[in-house]
Amino acid sequence: MSSHLQITHLRKRFGGLVAVKDVSFDVADGEVVGLLGPNGSGKTTVLNMISGALLPTAGEITLRGVRISRLRPDRIARHGVARTFQLVRPLPSLTVAENVLVSLAFGRFKHWGPDARDLAEEKLAFVGLGGRGGENVANLTYIDQKRMELARALASEPALLLLDEWLAGLTPSELQIGIDLVRRLQGAGMSVLLVEHIMDAVRALCARCVVMNAGEIIAHGPTETVLKDPGVVAAYLGD
Ligand code: ADP
Repeated sequence: MSSHLQITHLRKRFGGLVAVKDVSFDVADGEVVGLLGPNGSGKTTVLNMISGALLPTAGEITLRGVRISRLRPDRIARHGVARTFQLVRPLPSLTVAENVLVSLAFGRFKHWGPDARDLAEEKLAFVGLGGRGGENVANLTYIDQKRMELARALASEPALLLLDEWLAGLTPSELQIGIDLVRRLQGAGMSVLLVEHIMDAVRALCARCVVMNAGEIIAHGPTETVLKDPGVVAAYLGD
């Protein structure tokens, strides 16, 4: 299968600290890959280099064969990369639909006007917020804020979604809703790189995982095999 996202020998140095060292992996079309590792292992730095928020010190990132590393974040978004953040970042004075409209207006396709309203409703329906576009963001429950954040990310019709602990903080029943939503993304043909600490979610969603520790990949492969790897277990226990 032609590789959707290909990361090759990626490296990031912050002053004296090499936060990401020689990281290579790929995410195939329609695949959900877990990016795991203890805090500080370099996962968010990798996401930031994919989205263009950070410039790699060395290495390459390609999407469907097109080199995206060293492009500006808006150019990378135009190639079909979108991300969510660890903390939900809504625009609180706007309604649910207006939040999505802002993403549509400033996103990859610059949608304005009545068409944009229909598109916003379509994205909201996809995440389970159909008919709720007029609500005040401040009144949304946490899972609904997460849904809205996802709808905003979907505004750019991404081919690749970077989910940075998007499932964190959900109750067990909300977690199931979140997992089902990620499955819907995959069902709609999107590839997902999932940074996640909730192992039940990783097991449910990812056939394959990459595990980092101290900036390096210490294991990659089928999720069950990787999670039993003694080096991975030791890294999580703080060895
Ligand atoms: P993770 O997402 O796995 O928790 P990060 O990618 O956030 O890890 O961080 C990896 C390492 O890089 C950490 O030691 C962190 O302190 C450091 N780091 C991350 N961002 C910066 C930055 N902008 N400047 C300096 N150091 C950073």
